[in-house]
Amino acid sequence: MSQLLRASSPQLKRENGLGKLDYPTAVQFLCMHAACLLVIWSGASVVAVLTCLALYVGRMFAITAGFHRLFAHRTYSTGRLFQFVLAFTGTTAYQKGPLWWSAHHRSHHLHTDTAHDLHSPLTRGLWRSHIGWFLARDSRATDRVLVSNLTKYRDLRWLDRFYVLPPVLLAAATFLLGTLLQRYAPGLGTSGGQMLVWGFFISTVLLYHGTFTVNSLAHLFGRRRFATDDNSRNNLLVALLTLGEGWHNNHHYYPASERQGFYWWEVDISHYTLRLLSWFGVVWDLHTPPAKLYL
Ligand SMILES: [Zn+2]
Ligand SMILES: [Zn+2]
Repeated sequence: MSQLLRASSPQLKRENGLGKLDYPTAVQFLCMHAACLLVIWSGASVVAVLTCLALYVGRMFAITAGFHRLFAHRTYSTGRLFQFVLAFTGTTAYQKGPLWWSAHHRSHHLHTDTAHDLHSPLTRGLWRSHIGWFLARDSRATDRVLVSNLTKYRDLRWLDRFYVLPPVLLAAATFLLGTLLQRYAPGLGTSGGQMLVWGFFISTVLLYHGTFTVNSLAHLFGRRRFATDDNSRNNLLVALLTLGEGWHNNHHYYPASERQGFYWWEVDISHYTLRLLSWFGVVWDLHTPPAKLYL
């Protein structure tokens, strides 16, 4: 712990380049938040709020089951089509591309809660672990060596390069849907602008903060079942917000497992969904925790 505390010194923060903003990312991130204020003008409707929730859950699944459990950790197998579906849907969450995301996450597992961990709340503080690292200049590059088993896929490379395109397409789709509903189902009380605000801006901002709680809160608050070398925690609230990623101490102890809730009471919706998909042959070879964990 003393090593961790030393690592939070101002000198080390300067050495790590923290405080230097990656301006393009920071401006996009800020604009996404500011755009949520358009809700004052657009108002709300049941269909718009439900669309917001559906796009939160669907894209959170693509981030957790796709970016995290498939791309970063290879905890199960699937075909090229479903892999692309997960990669594309995950990229609409506007958290950069699958290669960038996976490389940074693999780096997190290599250096968890040390001075080299870009988003440790112990060494960097809560703000930087939650948001600051994402906006920092030193997190802009992708370490391709860390994702050498993913760079062979041309579609993943393409999505990573043009990561802005899928979110823009989703934004356009929500606007188009709202415009069509306004015209053909006026009783729903929605519009293009309203669906854009709820379905894209608010939903995506909620997704940012939902996903980022794994980096911030799940390394600070919760129980530690396993005495790992880091400060990872099992946190029910984070697990509910992220469809199962809150069992983070379990995950750091045995990251090769597809399921992160190791017991039936550890709610892991991504795991249930992947199990369901395995019955239909969409995914297979789901890696389980070793039997010795349950002795
Ligand atoms: Zn972690
Ligand atoms: Zn992980």
